[in-house]
Amino acid sequence: MYNFLYYKDDEGIREPWFFENSKLPIILSYLAPIDIYAIAFGPWVWCRGELDEETRNHESIHYHQQLELLFIGQWILYVFYWLKGLITYRDGEIAYRQSPFEREAYDNDQNLDYLKTRKPYAWRNYRGTNNDST
Ligand SMILES: [Zn+2]
Repeated sequence: MYNFLYYKDDEGIREPWFFENSKLPIILSYLAPIDIYAIAFGPWVWCRGELDEETRNHESIHYHQQLELLFIGQWILYVFYWLKGLITYRDGEIAYRQSPFEREAYDNDQNLDYLKTRKPYAWRNYRGTNNDST
């Protein structure tokens, strides 16, 4: 049976489906408060250019956050944390960077082995505080 919460399949860490050199991030950037380079939605990731290892890892972290929240839960919480940040910081870009989902991804995307040892729901450790020492 397909297990959403299982981090690895036979070939290693489970990764989303990457589409490189896509126009979708450019189109979405007109609507979003930030310039989007790559975006993850469901099991797909669209990227403006070619993905480097770090961005690939960043988007894979989001993919695992979505898997463990059955996608819809992550989208709802993602919007919730962004709006919460917007009220707190009154700045769309800071609100985006302070979301626990983004903080987990940015803090760990340089560690290409992160997903091998990541604990389920690890983004929860990035809630609440505003410092980067977590
Ligand atoms: Zn991100």
